[in-house]
Amino acid sequence: IPVRGHTGARVAVLGLGRSGLSAARSLRAGGAEALCWDDNPAAREAAQAEGFTCADLLQPGALDNVAALIVSPGIPHLYPSPNPVVAAALAAGIPVDNDIGLFFRSLATSDWQGYEIAPRVVAVTGSNGKSTTAALIHHILTATGRRSQLAGNIGRGVLDIDPPGDGDVVVLELSSYQTDLARALTPDIAVFTNLSPDHLDRHAGQGGYFAAKRRLFAEGGPDRAVIGVDEPEGLFLAGQMAEAAADDRVIRVSVTRKLTGPGWQVFARKGFLAEYRKGKQVASIDLRSVSGLPGAHNHQNACAAYAVARSLGLAPRVIEGALHSYPGLPHRSQIVATAEGVTYVNDSKATNVDSAAKALAAFPRIRWICGGLEKEGGLEALRGLTGAVAKAYVIGREAAAFALQLDVESEICTDMATAVARAVTEAEPGDTVLLAPAAASFDQYDNFEQRGTDFTEQVLKQL
Ligand code: ADP
Repeated sequence: IPVRGHTGARVAVLGLGRSGLSAARSLRAGGAEALCWDDNPAAREAAQAEGFTCADLLQPGALDNVAALIVSPGIPHLYPSPNPVVAAALAAGIPVDNDIGLFFRSLATSDWQGYEIAPRVVAVTGSNGKSTTAALIHHILTATGRRSQLAGNIGRGVLDIDPPGDGDVVVLELSSYQTDLARALTPDIAVFTNLSPDHLDRHAGQGGYFAAKRRLFAEGGPDRAVIGVDEPEGLFLAGQMAEAAADDRVIRVSVTRKLTGPGWQVFARKGFLAEYRKGKQVASIDLRSVSGLPGAHNHQNACAAYAVARSLGLAPRVIEGALHSYPGLPHRSQIVATAEGVTYVNDSKATNVDSAAKALAAFPRIRWICGGLEKEGGLEALRGLTGAVAKAYVIGREAAAFALQLDVESEICTDMATAVARAVTEAEPGDTVLLAPAAASFDQYDNFEQRGTDFTEQVLKQL
């Protein structure tokens, strides 16, 4: 989609990955000149091949006559140390923005391809469950015949979507790296799933991390906020958004307690989702038979997606039907095989301690494949949460050090092939062999997808 608001101007683009390149293209489509830079020569060549001008933005005069600087989410701009190009732009009074900001500004003009349009935008943020919640909202909408597009961190880049029609829905997954720089963030519905420590170096601690996510809920923010209130931050946010206790602007979501206050709430307990409004139950759904969403953490995602679908006018029974047909996302609690009573689950996306803990709570008896590049904060938080684990099979370059921190029986396997072989040999009927690493993948893989694919291939080969 073309970017509006910069027609005839020169806009600098720093970082030429997926979002940077798509920003450059959309700027050009909107009549702006994109001046590009990436420290990586291969990325510059790709941009030049598309006819974009590249110039080192740190050279004197490079930012002269530049109307805005667009920064990729992958580039740390302030912490752990300020990015020099960003600092130079700000010192020169040049606004710094990103593709998300460009997207929302372009929406505000409501004028794509010559006609007025008003798509509804749903933005999902939080520490865990963003992709699942966003994909689930998109699934519920498309399965019930609505037009929806999925973009942001999942699916396409925000500026790469097809021009939406009137009343279409655009579902965005937004990470803290995207929300903190965007100069416009105006979704119609904003979702906050939960908060746990992650990316703390980029945000100078938990406070900065929360602040980045919170920007979606700023004053004059969304018409509707769907907020997970199981952490103090969510509770705080919901309280701040609501004008009064019975305010319909906020839908509170919980998977730890029954919410029956005067407002609007959706919670899951003992495998049942319940919707309450003004203290009265409106609907209830049995989630235990929804195979694509196992575990309490997925019930949280189901509650949030349900609340969004209700906000968009869908009836509870219609949403229930769509939950049953949700196919799940690869690498997130994904069942990849079942053999001799053993289920094999790929949750490679469990890259931090919190998401791994959720996966460990979702199955009764687990052979746990874990390990990799440890995240800040160590594995302390997993202590006491490993009750369902029969044994851990530890992978990663630092497998021995990782295993030492676990409070369960463990075997050092180092590589995936060995871990899968050992787990397959030792698994008994009723067990779940679960890849939920509680660590990043970069010591052995390019990304978590590659790790999950390796697990899946090994399972299918060795069964
Ligand atoms: P995100 O996009 O926020 O990283 P995903 O939906 O991709 O979220 O899930 C990431 C990991 O977190 C998965 O491995 C999954 O097991 C776990 N997870 C999913 N939903 C939740 C949730 N609501 N709370 C905690 N952990 C979750």
